[in-house]
Amino acid sequence: MTRTDATARDTAAAVPAQRGVLTAEAWLQVASAAPGVLHIRPLTGEATASYAQRLANAYQLTLPQFLDGAGITLTDHGTLPAAELHLNHTAARNLTVLARTPLPHLTRALPRLSANDDAHSTEATAHYKRLEAGQQPVRACTLCTRHRSHNITDTAWVHRPPQRLMCPRHQQAAPDPRLTSTVHTHGVPELAAAHHTHQHLLRHPRATTAWTAARAITTRWYDHQQHLTHRWHPRLNQLCEANPHLTTTGSASPALLTRDLVTYPETVALARALATLPNRPHRTTNDALTLIACRLSLARLTPSPSDPLRLFLTHTHH
Ligand SMILES: [Zn+2]
Repeated sequence: MTRTDATARDTAAAVPAQRGVLTAEAWLQVASAAPGVLHIRPLTGEATASYAQRLANAYQLTLPQFLDGAGITLTDHGTLPAAELHLNHTAARNLTVLARTPLPHLTRALPRLSANDDAHSTEATAHYKRLEAGQQPVRACTLCTRHRSHNITDTAWVHRPPQRLMCPRHQQAAPDPRLTSTVHTHGVPELAAAHHTHQHLLRHPRATTAWTAARAITTRWYDHQQHLTHRWHPRLNQLCEANPHLTTTGSASPALLTRDLVTYPETVALARALATLPNRPHRTTNDALTLIACRLSLARLTPSPSDPLRLFLTHTHH
């Protein structure tokens, strides 16, 4: 028996068999005081529902059972990534006991945990809230999740910022919430290189604006098959070959599901170029295009008058 199996067994032993008759207070005492109960640390940016589910797994309970045991009334149903779990203040406090982590630490890691409703309610309640497609969490790196879950699960969902598109250590990425498995990127080394460049870019004061503009521009180029298609097509094929699940997901085309990932190296290079362009009037649009072409390793870049890059260069003053 491995150490993990033994730990899981200890956890099971710590869970009282007659859960139905246990009061919330007694359960909280048992769970927090019991030796052998695992300390499950949250992932940075983890969805509240994901963290609560991993805790429930550690206690060998379903999520509703776990919340019930924590004295939290769950009022409806939902699933990740389309719906996120919202806890009121009292429920968040109860969660900290089972998580054995102080509330400020938890709210730093779980972006949706910060109590957004009645702080004075003494009843601990939780409900699911539907998320717009752009707000939905994505799958976290399975190996990072395993490490943070004492091997109990490799499934977690995170609300991730753009600079954490991929895990450079384990070469996994989750470019779209519709992907229920991560994308392995071993055969595409320029993605990890882009990740590192992106981290450097963050130090630049114009990083956020440059990133937003660059992403909008490369997304449009990708959708309209312009300028960089000769690089994006082979990269898409490489990712599809290494990740058969991309072609069988069904909900959307692989080209769409992986768009942010396929364009990532060029989006980072373009964002970096845009962030470091000289201010006007010390540059012309043509100078800027020459410099950007060079940064993108293109012989030339001659966008049409309606091209988003040309519009950006003509209409922004820095
Ligand atoms: Zn990882």
